[in-house]
Amino acid sequence: MTDRLVFYSRMDNPEPWRAALRTALPDLAFDLADFVTDPTGIRYALVWNAPQGFFARFPDLQMIVSLGAGVDALVARDDLPPGVVITRLQDPMMSRMMASYVLFATLRMARDIPAFEAAQRQRRWTFVEPRPLSHTRVGIMGLGELGLFAARECARQGFTVSGWSRSPKSEPGIACHAGMDSLPAFLAGCDILVCMLPQTPQTVGLLNAERLAMLPQGAGFINVARGAIVDQQALLAALRSGRIGQATLDVCTPEPLPDDHPLWTLDNVLITPHVASVALPDSAAPQVAENIRRLRAGLPAHDPVDIARGY
Ligand code: NDP
Repeated sequence: MTDRLVFYSRMDNPEPWRAALRTALPDLAFDLADFVTDPTGIRYALVWNAPQGFFARFPDLQMIVSLGAGVDALVARDDLPPGVVITRLQDPMMSRMMASYVLFATLRMARDIPAFEAAQRQRRWTFVEPRPLSHTRVGIMGLGELGLFAARECARQGFTVSGWSRSPKSEPGIACHAGMDSLPAFLAGCDILVCMLPQTPQTVGLLNAERLAMLPQGAGFINVARGAIVDQQALLAALRSGRIGQATLDVCTPEPLPDDHPLWTLDNVLITPHVASVALPDSAAPQVAENIRRLRAGLPAHDPVDIARGY
């Protein structure tokens, strides 16, 4: 019997996924969750923010694939079927798209563009001496699928790049730090800090007032990970005082940011509505297909999410 994949997302158009999966794995049946009457043979679920109780509808389920790189909402659920493997999309195009956002935000700060934007609003021709990018130290928190790619791209542009992760890493051209003990020294060396960590019980609130104060005076801050990793009140205070000179926030908490939130009012903050990167069906589907082929062959899926670790 053909095995089946069920798709659920209120944000993503299923049709490009249907087409891309048909190309990658022609014998896989693709069902939209809203139209499934008989769940028999549904072994895989490709989902984003599925409602509570969703997975219990599918007794044959073997693998849940998160439609994004962030699995914080998925692993925090209490209705995950036991024994079902969870994977997330690892899409080279998603990494590239994320790196383009990080490059935009770091270059904007390093080239003093916010100062020119402000001067232009006042019709002032204000010269600020350009500095070589090597004079700007960019620190990337999280050297995973997305973080390492972005770190390499920043290094390729000529920034002086360091990175911070849980386990030790070695990467040419990037000064790698690992573990909590190294966090103060890492933060002290970031003219621009880029947060690319997953949201887990260990990272929620990690960037609190004390740690933000470890950054150099006037440092830039870019968050493309999750808003809850940063203490929003501490961030607000640091931005108001100029302790943090500039921030680019693609994520915040809550999302959407309420229209009366004070972050909207700060001149030194650029806010984008969680658009830094998305998974693209054409480049992500082959990886989903490969894992399905592995499960069919009785092999373990590549890179399963560690539910206890949270990413
Ligand atoms: P990965 O899981 O591939 O990598 C996570 C990295 O963070 C790893 O290097 C890991 O260390 C490190 N890390 C995790 N916990 C800790 C900790 N407690 N202390 C230090 N380092 C830690 O994630 P991705 O790179 O794929 O994605 C990162 C996040 O980006 C996602 O979780 C998601 O929230 C966000 N995202 C945002 C998008 C947007 O549009 N704004 C789009 C897509 C993702 P180690 O290597 O040692 O395991």
